[in-house]
Amino acid sequence: MALAHNDCQSKCDWRPTGERYRDQPLFRCTGCKSEWAPTEKWTPKNVDGQIALEVAAARAACPA
Ligand SMILES: [Zn+2]
Repeated sequence: MALAHNDCQSKCDWRPTGERYRDQPLFRCTGCKSEWAPTEKWTPKNVDGQIALEVAAARAACPA
């Protein structure tokens, strides 16, 4: 299983999915359907440049 990476369409809005990816919470962008988990090296930002609170919390909680 691999995370989806799509081109963002300048309307990113990252939301937790309630799903798990490699024992970490899985997030999905409602704009472009890209997926993210805190196992990734990058951190997704919303269209307004802010990091979603849930994303920041998951990043902080990830041991990697
Ligand atoms: Zn996006």
